[in-house]
Amino acid sequence: MHRRLLVLFLLFALPAAAQTIALRAGHVINPATGAVQNNQIILVENGKISSIGTDSTLPKDAQVVDLSNEWVMPGLIDAHTHLTLSEIPGKAPFEASYLKEGTALRSLRGLHNAEIILRAGFTTVREVGNEANYACSDLKQAFKEGWFDGPTMQCAGKIIAPFGGQSVRLPPEQGEFWKWEYIDADSPDEIRRAIHENIYYGADVIKLVADNSAFHYSENDIRVAVEEAHAAGRPVAVHVYGGPAADNVIRGGADSLEHGFGLTDEQLRLMKEKGTFLVGTDFPAAHLAGLNPSNDTLANADVLGKKIIDRLGRANRIGVKMAFGSDTVTEMPGRTRADMMFDYLAVWRAAGVPPADILKAMTTNGAELLRIDKERGSLALGQFADIIAMPADPLQDVESLRKINFVMKNGKIVRSPK
Ligand SMILES: [Zn+2]
Repeated sequence: MHRRLLVLFLLFALPAAAQTIALRAGHVINPATGAVQNNQIILVENGKISSIGTDSTLPKDAQVVDLSNEWVMPGLIDAHTHLTLSEIPGKAPFEASYLKEGTALRSLRGLHNAEIILRAGFTTVREVGNEANYACSDLKQAFKEGWFDGPTMQCAGKIIAPFGGQSVRLPPEQGEFWKWEYIDADSPDEIRRAIHENIYYGADVIKLVADNSAFHYSENDIRVAVEEAHAAGRPVAVHVYGGPAADNVIRGGADSLEHGFGLTDEQLRLMKEKGTFLVGTDFPAAHLAGLNPSNDTLANADVLGKKIIDRLGRANRIGVKMAFGSDTVTEMPGRTRADMMFDYLAVWRAAGVPPADILKAMTTNGAELLRIDKERGSLALGQFADIIAMPADPLQDVESLRKINFVMKNGKIVRSPK
């Protein structure tokens, strides 16, 4: 080919450079420290933050977004979601949700909720099981393909538990139908096998249930799960309420305890020492009242609601690392899944957790637990541009998060104030 022709050919063959987006940010919050910097310019190119500071020069062709009257921060992370699940109301047994809805419908429910929570400011979620037959993996794929705008999703696949999943004494005539949502694993070898199966089908995190049946996972069972999952680069999240089962989970080296409503100060101190995360799923009492209780722990909403506030306050005072996790699985009339996730803020406030620490639990800490802190969870050079903004200061009033009116996901604006 003639040289000049070749140059022309190359020029036209190259993809057009993606347009730079420049955010004029009035107040930028660093949730890792609680510090605020005013009048920053954030440049976003190819999905990532390419510059942040006061003296960035605006490229001529940049698309400028005026957020000069807004508080800007990294997108929110919920480390304990079940977007594909909604409990059937009216005290139906917990299992009714997966007896009545198949994987296709569950995926669509997940898509519906994912779109709502992304627009509300949650740019990353960790689905910790109860996702039918690996619906989360399919949703994650659909978002990666760009078919829909959704949050970054991490999936746990099927929950690993001793025989029977989280079902309590179903009649034997019904068969082991919990296996649509759970894998029975009653020995270290079965735990290893279950982890391999989950990872094969797309799991990013391994979820175990330690104390939902007569048999609790031993410290050695947990250690085996942790060794196996870590060898594949996945963290381990364990559902546990408290008692000796929680000792096993902490000492066995789990990355996070999910729920932990009954944790003692001694256990919380051990978690701090070992760097174990608490994902407290700190339910407001009103939400607990709507749950279909699958066990005695969930039976009395008011008592448990108070216990949760107390435990959250103690965990905060002791200095346990906490990541925000909502575990919202019910519906309330006229309210979205996102509205309900923000209801947890009132519990954190009631427990005396300062707004800065709440924001940290919802961003920096979540990113660390999810092992994505090199890519997401802060506004820094080279991070994916998951950016939210709101017209009021969440460090003064954390409920300002309900007013989020700008959301950028991987550099794409999915919601804008104008
Ligand atoms: Zn859950």
